[in-house]
Amino acid sequence: MKKEFVVIGLGRFGGSIVRSLADQGMEVMAIDMDEDKVNEFSSTASHAVVADSTDESVLKSLGIRNFDHVIVAIGDNIQSSILTTIMLKEIGVKKITVKAQNDYHEKVLRKIGANQVVHPERDMGRRIAHNIVSNNVLDYLELSDEHSIVELVANEKLSGNSLIDLDIRAKYGINIVAIKRDRDIIVSPQAEEEIQEGDILIVIGADTDINRFEKKIL
Ligand code: ADP
Repeated sequence: MKKEFVVIGLGRFGGSIVRSLADQGMEVMAIDMDEDKVNEFSSTASHAVVADSTDESVLKSLGIRNFDHVIVAIGDNIQSSILTTIMLKEIGVKKITVKAQNDYHEKVLRKIGANQVVHPERDMGRRIAHNIVSNNVLDYLELSDEHSIVELVANEKLSGNSLIDLDIRAKYGINIVAIKRDRDIIVSPQAEEEIQEGDILIVIGADTDINRFEKKIL
């Protein structure tokens, strides 16, 4: 069944969510109090509406309660973001994702019942920092404060070794969940699989363990 979304705030972040959802064939209602922003999305979104989301009667009249998922992508105005989230919660919206501006904002959003809080600038900063520090790290996804999934490029030190030879799970406590090789992807590789230079290893584990492994192969 087609899911129906609402995106409130059509800045760079909210706008890119509207475009991606529309590309995936989803129904999206796009809301912003700035008419120019709304006009920009009139042909992309299923409905584009000029409205102030801190006005409860507006939220109710738009029938926001009936949508599957609401994304609050209000940028700098933390007060509006918090107020909007509280009202969405009170109206009974089942799933609310909110973009946080800083850690304090995030804490408040969690307290008032946002189901998902995203921190795009901070997360992208961390990913890029990992990539800058280690040339081997292509991408990095934080699973929790202490665990991540990392894409590492295998260098000549690893080349020719099988997963058994490297004994990565026992030595480092991390798991290689997949290997990307040219256009192929080997999911859940067998212990006998031999790593080749240039393979991209998708590794999951505790950050401290992944760091130890990264240092070892540098
Ligand atoms: P980004 O950092 O993602 O580019 P911006 O701060 O540029 O974010 O954009 C946030 C958008 O949210 C703006 O287009 C602004 O008009 C809209 N916005 C802010 N407050 C409200 C509100 N109360 N109701 C509806 N839209 C709002």
